[in-house]
Amino acid sequence: MKVKHVPVRSCLGCGQKKGKGELMRIVYKDGGLVMDDGGKLPGRAGYLCPQEGCIDSLLKKKGRLSHALRVSLRHEAEEGFLRGLLTEREGEE
Ligand SMILES: [Zn+2]
Repeated sequence: MKVKHVPVRSCLGCGQKKGKGELMRIVYKDGGLVMDDGGKLPGRAGYLCPQEGCIDSLLKKKGRLSHALRVSLRHEAEEGFLRGLLTEREGEE
């Protein structure tokens, strides 16, 4: 039986390692943060579980996301993006 190799990434919120498909992919594009839904955007990416708790804990780790993406972002930009994600999730419920 062939074993399919699944790339594993760690969540920036909880640090748990998960298969790429289970995590949201965040990339830096045109001066801002975007959610890469299709997983096709180039560049360094940050990964996060699609859970409020992980978004929230990343929010508390100031500068963690820009560090992971190796970009220098204003904290406000990072925070605004993450808060936007939380709001989106709330909207789904
Ligand atoms: Zn997580």
